[in-house]
Amino acid sequence: KITLDNVVKTFDTFRAVRGVSLEIGSGELVALLGPSGSGKTTILRMVAGLEYADGGRILFGEQDATDIPVRDRGVGFVFQHYALFPHMTVAENIAFGMKVSKRKRSGAEIEARVNDLLVLVKLSGLGNRFPSQISGGQRQRVALARSLAVDPKVLLLDEPFGALDANVRRDLRRWLREIHDELGITTLFVTHDQEEALDLADRVVILDQGKIVQQGTPEEVCRQPNSPFVTRFLGDAH
Ligand code: ATP
Repeated sequence: KITLDNVVKTFDTFRAVRGVSLEIGSGELVALLGPSGSGKTTILRMVAGLEYADGGRILFGEQDATDIPVRDRGVGFVFQHYALFPHMTVAENIAFGMKVSKRKRSGAEIEARVNDLLVLVKLSGLGNRFPSQISGGQRQRVALARSLAVDPKVLLLDEPFGALDANVRRDLRRWLREIHDELGITTLFVTHDQEEALDLADRVVILDQGKIVQQGTPEEVCRQPNSPFVTRFLGDAH
């Protein structure tokens, strides 16, 4: 379980995150949804430990995140423009995190794990291709396989399908949901796409100007939007 307790983040004088309190249950898939500049990425980066909160607390279980070094947080990431290493094959890209990880694995163990992950992300047979030889959607699947390779406890996804066309996004959504259900990994997902959040998440957290304006299951927020902002924002999807 991850808990954000009245988290604040200010850049110079600009308050990007203005007192956000949120719980992400173990195994839950939560979407942070909001317009550009609403603070979604900043929240994700603070959970990851790439940015520090200057007010409030973030807890991993019962432990204050500031007491946990970034590499011990057990967090995997996928970003929108997640650059794969162009000079490495798909398999080498997936293996990379395992090779630099604290936990030492044998060559055979790494190879077996890469093959399992290729099956999981439905890219068996493409391990020897280079990133330039596969599609954008396939590249994002490789990026996810790479982040899963080191058995993260938490997965953070920042607009992972942002650059792709609508059909590919829809396929990837279904596929991500399947993988999430299979692995039961706690997942925090950032998007500005209402349809994506409502379709994919167990719970949707809607942000505006650094604050949570509403949260609930997709059904709850659709049935009972609590402000003109939420009504308008969700309505834009249709
Ligand atoms: P987008 O969908 O456009 O990525 P977002 O909801 O993820 O938006 P953030 O990236 O979290 O929003 O940014 C929130 C606000 O904080 C924005 O106004 C942004 O300009 C500002 N901001 C983010 N990072 C920094 C930084 N390093 N320095 C100064 N301002 C920043």
